[in-house]
Amino acid sequence: MADLVNAQTHKKAECTCCGTCCRKGGPALHSPDAGLIEACILRAQDLCTFRAGELVRDEHLNRIVPLPGELVKIAAPFGARPDNWTCRFLTEKNLCFIHGKQPIECRAFYCEAPDALLALSGKDSLDRKALRVLLKAPAWWDELMDAHAERCGYDALTELAPRIADDADARRSFLEIVEYDRAFRELVVEKKAALPEELDFLLGRPLLRTVIMYGLDARPQPDGGIALVQTSRNVREEVKES
Ligand code: SF4
Ligand code: SF4
Repeated sequence: MADLVNAQTHKKAECTCCGTCCRKGGPALHSPDAGLIEACILRAQDLCTFRAGELVRDEHLNRIVPLPGELVKIAAPFGARPDNWTCRFLTEKNLCFIHGKQPIECRAFYCEAPDALLALSGKDSLDRKALRVLLKAPAWWDELMDAHAERCGYDALTELAPRIADDADARRSFLEIVEYDRAFRELVVEKKAALPEELDFLLGRPLLRTVIMYGLDARPQPDGGIALVQTSRNVREEVKES
């Protein structure tokens, strides 16, 4: 949406307002975006955390890569399919709902001249704990993040995933992590520690959705358990080998 957000560096006519950039994912947040949180333009429920090890699209390399560290971005619409990355502020007419108040990445981006956005990559990123302070959320949210990360890190899942087809112990351990993640989220909501729509920020996206990166479909069962079904190629393994 360069014509909307980057008038200082590009002529308005250069952007066709196609909305493609906004459909590829919302912007990651950086220190200059702190004011958007303080002014309540962005709330916890508008944000989504991508934890270290998750797969994201690297526009510079034009391929999917595992994240070396945490990234917090503007989320897709609540309840969107896992493969829908569209920024929640993109309207049906390809306009930006927070026009004039967009994060710095949006203001820097123009698809025909991506250098300004690339220059921001990894610089002054706002992580969950910095955002938690800006959001004036309780300090014990940090403890919830740490407790969840200790049991639900992607390192362990990535090590186990290639072995679950032939190794019952690996399969059991993998499932235990996915089940722990689900139970942790349910407990946080039950104890009213956070709203359901704040969980993607507080704990990252649920493993029930993200294990698709391993070519697995995690399906909740009527008995309360989770069934793992191999659905397609292990994207995570392909990324490692590419
Ligand atoms: S910056 Fe490029 S991709 Fe984004 S809306 Fe404009 S023309 Fe489309
Ligand atoms: S905040 Fe606005 S300009 Fe930025 S990705 Fe979302 S809809 Fe596009």
